[in-house]
This record gives sequence, structure tokens and C-alpha cells, in this order.
Amino acid sequence: MATENIRRPVRGKVIADSRPPQVAGAHAITRRRAAKVVMVGNVAVGGMNPIVVQSMTDTDTADIQATVAQVKLLADAGSELVRVTVNNDAAARAVPEIRQRLDALGCRVPIVGDFHFIGHRLLRDHPGCAKTLDKFRINPGNVGRGPRHDDNFRAFIDVARDLGKPVRIGVNAGSLDPDLLISKMDANSRRATPLTGDEVEREALVESALASAEAAVALGLPENKIIVSCKVSRLSQMVEAYRELARRCDLPLHLGLTEAGMGSKGVVATAAALSVLLYDGIGDTIRSSLTPEPGGDRSREVRLCQEILQALDLRSFRPAVTSCPGCGRTTSSLFRELARDIQTHLDAKMPQWKAQYAGAETLKVAVMGCVVNGPGESRAAHLGISLPGSGEAPRAPVFVDGERVTFLEGATIATDFIAMVEEYVAKRWGAKVTA
Ligand code: SF4
Repeated sequence: MATENIRRPVRGKVIADSRPPQVAGAHAITRRRAAKVVMVGNVAVGGMNPIVVQSMTDTDTADIQATVAQVKLLADAGSELVRVTVNNDAAARAVPEIRQRLDALGCRVPIVGDFHFIGHRLLRDHPGCAKTLDKFRINPGNVGRGPRHDDNFRAFIDVARDLGKPVRIGVNAGSLDPDLLISKMDANSRRATPLTGDEVEREALVESALASAEAAVALGLPENKIIVSCKVSRLSQMVEAYRELARRCDLPLHLGLTEAGMGSKGVVATAAALSVLLYDGIGDTIRSSLTPEPGGDRSREVRLCQEILQALDLRSFRPAVTSCPGCGRTTSSLFRELARDIQTHLDAKMPQWKAQYAGAETLKVAVMGCVVNGPGESRAAHLGISLPGSGEAPRAPVFVDGERVTFLEGATIATDFIAMVEEYVAKRWGAKVTA
């Protein structure tokens, strides 16, 4: 395999490393870019650790009750890190009590503080907040301009270093360091063949992240305390920026398509962007930046991350139902009802199974509409049922671990099949009691 120089920050310098690139040509999903491991509280990010799902609250952090409730909601949904805004003194003062109340509820999820503009001052003035948080996020584009930028950045990193806290250097296209962008644009205008505006912006994003990481290392923050991100709202720009980051450093990467939007547009854009990178082994922690519907469920962003990872076979969170779309062969509503009832039942049972049966989240069930693809998909699942299509005998073959074991028929097909699923889970994973 050809080798390629990889730049990585080491003690404030960027050096050439002749290791083979970890992601070039890596189309097998089992390939994973080798990143350093950063501990955020008790959660390991990077290396070969599972890709971490994270989320962010949208409450006023100073509203302790509302923030505790939402952090718990997100954690209960499966968020392994939760970020809160720390935008003023009241928010910073609230953080220690938020932690205490969560602990009292048995919710140990690490909390990340999101800082902009005055983070250096808030961390200095509120040592209880700094000590409580498990990670600080700093946006290099929002720490002041000129000499104040370096002073504020230094003050921020000093706190992280002295407390041994990890930091995410989170660059965002919407708040890119203006001085850096202007200097890049000026340099580009002098080139014989100028780069496109997108290329200049991308280079500025990546350089902002890497130069900030180098500066943090120079200030004494260990490399294994740094995670980086380069969020952009345009998919192609975001993907190319992360590919470049992955090529040029070995710090863990926090992936996100920022400002993804609302509804199916946000879901599809996020899934498309993250999947391209995850499939190539790039990304150590992910967040989906969906805009919730008014009054909507904030934890939807957590489920989306889980579903992306599960669809890519990178992690399992809940049993999966394979079901066909139905067609002219599925003339009754039985097929749709059974697919819905099975999924609903599995979702309802999962919290209990999680405590009782380690591994039950990997269960795969097939609910198929007719004999065309039904037996094949049913054999590929742990359990599968192939309902009778129009013109077929009114009985449904059931497959367990690839073998046809029985036929179900009549009004009790759904309840009989659910009972078989229950029995299978207890038998297969019942010996592995986790708690
Ligand atoms: S499995 Fe049968 S019912 Fe389902 S889509 Fe295919 S042909 Fe139609």
C-alpha cells in the first residue's frame, strides 16, 4: 500500500509521519481510522471503541429543573454524552447543581459544556462549573480577534490543562475565524491558479482546527485530551473537510452536519453525510443537529444517531425488523399490522431485555408479505415469518435460525409469532444475565 504523509500535532508542532494512511481506499466497513483515545468522564472516544452517540440540550441551562429533565431524557434515550450551553454566569452557576441532581437520579452521563465568546472568563470565574464538566467545547472562531484571541484561548486551555479536562476544538463554518479566512482569501488571490471559494473555506476550516489543536498542545494540554470537529451545513463540504482532517491528524473526530434542518430533510441529510464518512472508518463520536418540531421530542436526534450506526452495522441498539414494502400480492392489512405490532412490541420490551438479556439488541426479525422474498429474508433473520400473499395457502411459515420450524394460521398469527420471539430471546440470551 502506498504511504502518504500525515500531519499530526505533537507538542505544538506538526510533523510528517510516514505511517500508511488509515482510511485511503478503505471501503470495508470494518476499517477504522486509528485515532487517539480521549476519556470523557468514563466514556472512551476514539481508538477502536464504539462510536459514541451524543446530543445537546436546548433548555436554558440556568433553568436547572428543565435542564436536568432534558439531560435525563437524552441519556435515557441512549445519549452517551450530553452537551449543555454555558453562555453566562447563571448557566455556569447552575452546572454543579445539575450534576448533583442527575447523580441523585442515578443518571451518570458525562456533561459537556458548550462555550463561546466568554468561555475563558466563565471557566475562571466559576471553578465549580469547570470542575464539574467532563469536557469543554471551544470554538476557535468565537474567542475574540487579534491578540485577544490568543489570550482568551490560552486562558481557556490553561483551565482544561490544570483540571485534566478534555476539550473539543469545534470549528463551525458559520463562525469561522474571520482573520484566518481573510488571510486565506488574500493568499488565494495571489495564486496563479486560485482555488475555488469552497476550497479556500475548507482549508481554512481544517487549518483552524489543526492549528488550534497544535496551540493547545503547545500550552501543555496532552494530545489525548483533544477531540476536533469541523461542522458545515453543506454535505459535500462537510465530508471533504472531515476527510482532510482524518488524513492530517490522528485526533478523535466528532462528526456532525450542522444545522441539518427539520423533518425528513434533516434526517436524510444527516444520515447521508455521516454515513459516507462512517463507512470509510472516519468518526469517533456523532451528533445529529436536527431542528425539532415545535413541542417535538428532543431525543429524536439520539435515535437518529443510533439508527445510522445500526444501519451501518457499526453498533446495535435495538432489535431490527426487516419487512418488505408490500405490493399487489399483499391485499390484506394483516402484513402491515404484523410488521407494526412486532416493531412496537420489540421497542416496548427492549428496556426490560437490556437489563435481562445481554445481546438481545442484536435480534433480527423478518416480517415478509409473501413467498417471493419471504423465505429468503426469514432464513437470514433470527426469526422470520412469511405471510401468505394473495393466491397462496392461508398459512405462514415461520423460520428460526434459518430453519422452517412451523406454520401459523388463523386469527392468532400475530400473538403466536410474538410468543415465539419472546421464547427465542429468553432461550438465546437468557443465560447472559447482565445485572
Ligand atoms: S416479498 Fe412479496 S409482498 Fe413483499 S414486496 Fe416482495 S413480492 Fe411483494
